[in-house]
Amino acid sequence: MAGQDPVDLLIVGGGINGAGIARDAAGRGLEVLLCEQNDLGSATSAASTKLIHGGLRYLEYYEFRLVREALIEREVLLRAAPHIIWPMDFILPHDKGLRPAWMIRIGLFMYDHLGGRERLPGSRGIDFKRDPLGAPLKPHLTKGFSYADCWVEDSRLVVLNALDAAEHGAEILPRTRCSEARRADGLWEATLAPADGGPERKVRARALLNAGGPWVSEVLARVTGSNTQSSLRLVKGSHIVVPRLYEGEQAYILQHTDRRVVFVIPYERRYSLIGTTDEPYEGDPGTVAITPDETAYLCGAINRFMAKEVRPEDVVWSYAGVRPLYDDMSESASAVTRDYVFDLDAGDGKAPLLSIYGGKITTYRRLAEHALSKLLPLLGNDARPWTAEVPLPGGDMPGADFEPFLAELQRQKPWLPGDLARRYARAYGTRVDRILNAAGGLNDLGEDLGDGLYEAEVAYLVEREWASSAEDILWRRSKLGLHVGEATKRRLAAWLERQRTAAPDGKAAAR
Ligand SMILES: Cc1cc2nc3c(=O)[nH]c(=O)nc-3n(C[C@H](O)[C@H](O)[C@H](O)COP(=O)(O)OP(=O)(O)OC[C@H]3O[C@@H](n4cnc5c(N)ncnc54)[C@H](O)[C@@H]3O)c2cc1C
Repeated sequence: MAGQDPVDLLIVGGGINGAGIARDAAGRGLEVLLCEQNDLGSATSAASTKLIHGGLRYLEYYEFRLVREALIEREVLLRAAPHIIWPMDFILPHDKGLRPAWMIRIGLFMYDHLGGRERLPGSRGIDFKRDPLGAPLKPHLTKGFSYADCWVEDSRLVVLNALDAAEHGAEILPRTRCSEARRADGLWEATLAPADGGPERKVRARALLNAGGPWVSEVLARVTGSNTQSSLRLVKGSHIVVPRLYEGEQAYILQHTDRRVVFVIPYERRYSLIGTTDEPYEGDPGTVAITPDETAYLCGAINRFMAKEVRPEDVVWSYAGVRPLYDDMSESASAVTRDYVFDLDAGDGKAPLLSIYGGKITTYRRLAEHALSKLLPLLGNDARPWTAEVPLPGGDMPGADFEPFLAELQRQKPWLPGDLARRYARAYGTRVDRILNAAGGLNDLGEDLGDGLYEAEVAYLVEREWASSAEDILWRRSKLGLHVGEATKRRLAAWLERQRTAAPDGKAAAR
């Protein structure tokens, strides 16, 4: 679609909300341009707990609308992307000093029945003295509950939405900042500034969508000149990653002494992911990082419940993000609503501006539908919602069933090592054929960069998924950063540099 003037919709921000709206809008025939100042899915949408969940704890805050929508979305998204989203059992130990068992039972009953559960199992009580699920816990914990939610590879979900948007004609511009936008002659006129210092581009758009996440107020100030922060409440959350604490694919949900919950989740085969915290935040969202106090808090939750102790020295990786929540004036950061809120400035009937506050990764698809239901009438478009039934790129597996798909891949490519076949199938789903092409052996995958990283995969990520740096590939398109050695990282950086110097425009990406 490159070069349309004016475009129908300019989206500022390539997190899950911007990418999800780009996909939906492009599929409804709008000419869409999305700009993201850094890599796609590099801010809040890469720093989540990575759950597609109803949010059991939100029931305590009477967020029934949000929980119901999120519960329904679990199954919709599971069908759309069974490679990057999968069911996960959550074990909730009951601690007598905290929420009473009857309260948890009521919450789980509502969780089971509020929203269209088809594939996921219902909740049940567990006797830890008999059930091996109790083995990773301290022995005084004798009873608990189990329920199901889903896991998602969050930053890959963003990229798959952007990819589908592009395949429906959207133009996606990562590493490009919207530095200015103003209304003129019934249109938006925006300036887009590439991060590499290349020439700025002026674009015109019939509508502007502010999906700037934690920067939503900054973007708003840039386009309206207003300096109001009043609707935005920034709440930081951090996670730590430690060597795996227990065997098994189940996660644990632990009630800390302050009544907050902390998750322990099997992560990247060798690790456990622990999070999150909830801290008011006033700094620059671009430089957010975990503090020693947060690490101590998360270790404290583990050491109250899990048999194996965790110390700050055990942490192999950590990350932090900032929730861009709608400020409902709640006293504590944990109580602020996680639901999304729109701020529509319809202008004088032309050049509308829609800003997004809050939301969850889980509800991004519904958020996109709601956002478009506000914008499309102003653009004279009456196309129907379509994303509920259509798989994301790579998700079109028979029966939305991952394991048979993997088994078939292994049957067709017996030379592919089992770990690599699983990793490729998880990351790329049915699109794995674009990496493997007609390969008849590992030698056909190009240069071996080490630790299971081959040139064919890197080239695919650069050419099709907008990856540009080693960081994009190791930490967002994958989590290989946790697995590969320094030599592989150096070879990858050298490969990207060779591509960049060989490309006529000096950019590694060759879309
Ligand atoms: C600790 C934590 C745990 C969470 N856990 C979960 C969970 O388990 N499940 C769940 O469903 N949700 C979870 N969430 C919530 C979820 O992560 C967020 O709601 C979601 O990622 C927000 O997406 P977004 O697109 O609004 O923001 P972002 O992902 O932050 O995207 C906004 C983008 O806008 C870009 N941008 C800003 N200004 C400009 C500009 N001028 N020009 C161009 N680009 C610009 C930024 O670079 C950024 O990439 C969690 C959040 C946190 C912080």
